[in-house]
Amino acid sequence: MAARQEKKHSEERNRKSTQNNTRASQGQWGRAWEVDWFSLASILFLLMFAPLIVYYFIMSCDQYQCSLIDPVIDLLMGNQHLSDIWNKTPALTYRAAGIYALWVTFQVILYVFIPDFCHKFIPGYVGGVQEGAVTPAGVVNKYEINGLQAWIITHVLWFANAYYFHWFSPTIIFDNWIPLLWCANILGYAVSTFAMIKSYYFPTNAKDCKFTGNFFYDYMMGIEFNPRIGKWFDFKLFFNGRPGIVAWTLINLSYAAKQQELYGQVTNSMILVNVLQGIYVLDFFWNEAWYLKTIDICHDHFGWYLGWGDCVWLPYLYTLQGLYLVYHPVQLGTSNAIGILMLGLIGYYIFRMTNHQKDLFRRTNGNCKIWGKKPEYIECSYMSVDGTKYYSKLLTSGFWGWARHFNYTGDLMGSLAYCLACGFEHILPYFYIVYMTILLTHRCIRDEHRCFSKYGKDWKRYTAAVPYRLIPGIF
Ligand code: NDP
Repeated sequence: MAARQEKKHSEERNRKSTQNNTRASQGQWGRAWEVDWFSLASILFLLMFAPLIVYYFIMSCDQYQCSLIDPVIDLLMGNQHLSDIWNKTPALTYRAAGIYALWVTFQVILYVFIPDFCHKFIPGYVGGVQEGAVTPAGVVNKYEINGLQAWIITHVLWFANAYYFHWFSPTIIFDNWIPLLWCANILGYAVSTFAMIKSYYFPTNAKDCKFTGNFFYDYMMGIEFNPRIGKWFDFKLFFNGRPGIVAWTLINLSYAAKQQELYGQVTNSMILVNVLQGIYVLDFFWNEAWYLKTIDICHDHFGWYLGWGDCVWLPYLYTLQGLYLVYHPVQLGTSNAIGILMLGLIGYYIFRMTNHQKDLFRRTNGNCKIWGKKPEYIECSYMSVDGTKYYSKLLTSGFWGWARHFNYTGDLMGSLAYCLACGFEHILPYFYIVYMTILLTHRCIRDEHRCFSKYGKDWKRYTAAVPYRLIPGIF
């Protein structure tokens, strides 16, 4: 009898322990279930001020030659009222609405209806149907990787128009920049709100939804992990890559065209910004399959942060250097131009090689060479929501042995190069490096918090083996 009772107690203990383990992994892996006051305050701040920050930057270029200080001085001195600035701001126009609707529809068509053919003839390119990482609910999604194709088609049409068809002016984006901002905001808010409603009423995968109970947090950070319409329209892949990143290089080209129109030439700084950012964008699409394994797709839920961020923040603030150069055409001395180019290229090389090393290592399950040698790594394990145990590896050699986020370091070097191309007359173009430093440092912390929750003591062994985050010996 006593033995039977002991067995019953033991079974009960095991059941509770399994529940707790599941709850623990469910609770910690992925974004938070409980919202601390700091996160909530940051979210409320961003929801209220991020749209104003974007407006302020773009308005200051439009009305104050990209000076961030002059509008404040004007307001403080009483030379202008907020209403004066607002009244001078171009309104939403039918033309901009038409351009934007056409643009987004075109990208949807390229994404949904044209399966990738680039991987069939470009050696080394990974496109077509690819698998994402295992979600916390244990799902592996399939994605149609055709971003490179969408980028090529869009840009071929752009150049065909600029040099042959002349349907519209290549300065069209610059000329409608503020009216287009209102359109981008409408889409950004619409898609974030739709994603929120969808997660309550028709989620793509209910097990991969996270409700914190805090409306603002859920709206900002998203509830659904991988919202989709139909089998292939994936919100995260589409919004991050298509209207935002395909547009990035077109926006820069439009700025270059505007310089040509205004000054009769394109400065070397504008060419540098176009080339360096062009490499970054092309890299993104060349490695779109790899992108499926990055934090945005693997861990972030789809809310305002990604929805609005991809529609508004990214195209408007990541392109500030080109916009600035329209108002201040900087012609760099040869040695400065070469120095900036080198910084940008070395930064890009570090960024790409570090990402490539992790991708190769994970893809081959460690059966590869890193810098000519067998990789060194730490074995680790984690659990999904249903309690299934998975095994993984953390690379500790190559750039991953130098620092835990050396890919971010390379990214920051490249970002600094874009800003330096604009000279030192104004601070506006330096917003990007300030923002990227905050973003990527915050990412280090947030990712490490998540990885610690996911891998537990294995993550501690990893941080002991690779003690620095971004700069070996310093941070
Ligand atoms: P990472 O590509 O560094 O991915 C982090 C994940 O990789 C971790 O969550 C963990 O995931 C896994 N991982 C961590 N350490 C190791 C290791 N030693 N070995 C193997 N796997 C490891 O981060 P991001 O997704 O944030 O960034 C990808 C790139 O995109 C970066 O180069 C970044 O600079 C760039 N980026 C650019 C942005 C921009 O706005 N321009 C914004 C954000 C990123 P797991 O759970 O699989 O173990």
